[in-house]
Amino acid sequence: MIPYGHQFIDDDDIAAVSAVLRGEWLTQGPAVDSFEDALAAKVGCRHAVVFSSGTAALHGAMYAAGVVEGEEVITSPLTFAATSNSVLYQRGIPVFADIDEKTGCLDPEAVRDRLSPKTKVIASVSYSGYPVDLEPFLDMARSVGALVVEDGCHSLGASRGRRMVGQDADMTAFSFHPVKHITTGEGGAVVTDDDDLAHRLRVFRSHGIIKDKDRMEFYEGPWSNEMIDLGYNYRLCDIQCALGLSQMSKLDRFIECRRAIAKRYDRVFGSLPGCIVPASDPGHGYHLYAFRVPAEIRAELFEHLRANDIWVQVHYPPVHLHPYYRKSFGYAPGDFPVAERFFSMEISLPIYVGLSEQDQDRVISLIADRLAL
Ligand SMILES: *Cc1c(COP(=O)(O)O)cnc(C)c1O
Repeated sequence: MIPYGHQFIDDDDIAAVSAVLRGEWLTQGPAVDSFEDALAAKVGCRHAVVFSSGTAALHGAMYAAGVVEGEEVITSPLTFAATSNSVLYQRGIPVFADIDEKTGCLDPEAVRDRLSPKTKVIASVSYSGYPVDLEPFLDMARSVGALVVEDGCHSLGASRGRRMVGQDADMTAFSFHPVKHITTGEGGAVVTDDDDLAHRLRVFRSHGIIKDKDRMEFYEGPWSNEMIDLGYNYRLCDIQCALGLSQMSKLDRFIECRRAIAKRYDRVFGSLPGCIVPASDPGHGYHLYAFRVPAEIRAELFEHLRANDIWVQVHYPPVHLHPYYRKSFGYAPGDFPVAERFFSMEISLPIYVGLSEQDQDRVISLIADRLAL
């Protein structure tokens, strides 16, 4: 079977995990700090705060941004449900805006239409790893006193010109699920340059409890700790962080490999009438190779590939059309036509470190046959 995405684990990763298992700290130990330091250094941010998943990281970012009941977060319908779910966890209101059909990312003009005094966050999704320009979102957010949170779950290691994804937004969330760029099994992180946001993220990750004497209201002695807000246990353990740290040392190679696979697909599919290869950018992270074919043939092509053990996927059924979102907010087909059209044509082709040229050629020739190249 050739999946659309897969982890890459080598002996160094296994050795790093074994070393933690033989050591003293299984959680809340030094591997957490080491992984956070490596992430912050790679992205070029002052702080990285790891979480138990990308979803928990997004929830932490919404909390840290101050999203509370009734406040609005503008985001994309072409994403995994976790992006807008993280808003709902805080009782905020996800407000969808349509996408730019070239990139699959939020369209700044559509976001402008949704801006209101209640906007607390603009949550941009760098869909598929495309390093969408955040300038328009930062300008709009500043104009209403909101923050920009980037859902960078597709774009660890991607760059925007000379800047890494993670440096431009107020906070950027990453995921370390096995199909993402690096993995910790489950896991995630938020990166930020802001000391106060980083503090809020750390408190939220660990029950809302602080242990820092200087910040306590009722300090009694070295045993004191205070719960100052409702937080969660969203920690990532040392076993996972050791794996993450080991994976980080391979991130550049992983990205290069994904770009090379994308280039091979681009070469064959770039000139196909009716088909659209992903918008290119030298900094693209290619979490997905989001290929588009005429909507009428997408289902058939999908089934044909699946029947041949090529486990393609579709990213994503637009979030506003999930039954929960329809019921809760009254959304219906046609509300975000660009995202819906994008979805109807999309098919994510296999792209991962370890995909052999032979296997990729098999994928290419199955598609070429079907599209009668
Ligand atoms: C993977 C992903 C998430 C959630 O990450 P988990 O680690 O699976 O919780 C959120 N948003 C996007 C766009 C993702 O791809």
